Amino acid sequence: MSTEKNPDGNAPILQVGDREETTVGNYFVSNYPPFSFWTPEGVARERLDGSPDPSVPFGLYVHIPFCRRRCDFCYFRVYTGRDAKDVERYVQAVITEMRLYAALPLVQGRKPQFVYFGGGTPSFLAADQLRELFEGLQEAFPWDDVEEVTFECEPGTLDEGKIRTLRELGVTRLSLGVENFNPEILELNNRAHRAKEIGAAYEQARAMGFPQINIDLIAGMVGETEENWRDCIAKTRAMAPEAVTIYQMEIPYNTTVYERMKDGGDRVAPVADWKTKRRWVADAFAALESDGYRVGSAYTAVKDEDVSFLYRDGLWYGADMLGIGVASFSHLRGAHFQNEHHLDPYIESLERGALPIHRGMVLTDDERLIREFALQLKLGSVGTKYFQDKFGVDVRVRFGEVLRQYEADGWLKVEDDRITFSRDGLLQVDRLLHGFFNDEHRGARYA
Ligand code: SF4
Repeated sequence: MSTEKNPDGNAPILQVGDREETTVGNYFVSNYPPFSFWTPEGVARERLDGSPDPSVPFGLYVHIPFCRRRCDFCYFRVYTGRDAKDVERYVQAVITEMRLYAALPLVQGRKPQFVYFGGGTPSFLAADQLRELFEGLQEAFPWDDVEEVTFECEPGTLDEGKIRTLRELGVTRLSLGVENFNPEILELNNRAHRAKEIGAAYEQARAMGFPQINIDLIAGMVGETEENWRDCIAKTRAMAPEAVTIYQMEIPYNTTVYERMKDGGDRVAPVADWKTKRRWVADAFAALESDGYRVGSAYTAVKDEDVSFLYRDGLWYGADMLGIGVASFSHLRGAHFQNEHHLDPYIESLERGALPIHRGMVLTDDERLIREFALQLKLGSVGTKYFQDKFGVDVRVRFGEVLRQYEADGWLKVEDDRITFSRDGLLQVDRLLHGFFNDEHRGARYA
């Protein structure tokens, strides 16, 4: 009899004896219900013509799909080898999309509190393209209430001039996709940047006075070792950024790593198992805590109490989030929307003057509750009063059975009006969140 079992349906964990091997599938829970339940028929276009609820915060996400190279673990749709003309056409399409939204009743006159540029690689854009993009967006939409502008960067795309431009354009939170400091590991995973570019980009950004610099790391890249991971932690501590975000390596279906696994007939991915990845994150968090950092979520440690991340909080607390750009996600008036996932139909739709929405879903009140409860649990601790006030639901009762089970397993504690994950529970929160999902959404694909 085989000892292999996959405890969570489609989850990427293959239990082999005591080991929790990494296999193919999505681990990270980024939204609810899973994307595979969003459909073209589910697009609630009429919601965009309604009035906004003034009590709901509003934010903007802008997607830039270009990268210099495709990392072997990447599961996003990214475009490599695109020239300035392609980028220019894309920037114009994004500005057009912004203008179309700015004229809709739900968005008209609203002022975003936060803006997030994600990708892909937003820093793939040249300084003059960045100016054009920011100016085009700001013309369509007043930014005077924006408190946070996050911008994702790949270190090898930065130089002093571009970093200065980002600062002048008002970026407040520069997020550096370091992932690993080891040149061989970066190369082995087909990452575009070189190890020596990391320090230079960080120093230049520091000198430019960004209020917050975040460093992204991945625990468990192909080729990772105990010794190298210790070195990654030491180098991160020496840099002392305001925030450190660490993801555990997952191998979704549309990655080069999975293609190779398929070709070789392998079920187990060539990366560390989940227990090792959790221990690596636990070690990094413990080291950062000893430097005075605070663990603010399952992925992030922050240097000071007042280091905020408004985009994440908006996403996890049900803000109206307008996502523009190819394949972007929006959450507006309780409905999900996603744009066309391919570049050509996205741009062609906008060149015809039509919003490029591809699929969507209207959430029931119960699904909205589950979405916010699950996402906020990633913070490590949630108060029950918030859900009582907003949804009229006592989450201790609604999710009583799962909470009791997880409490008995040692993953969390329910005390008075607060639910708090243990560190071990928090470091596998994405796996545990499926327990709070409605039956039909458990273990479903995030694609
Ligand atoms: S930089 Fe990010 S988006 Fe681009 S290929 Fe690598 S993982 Fe994918």
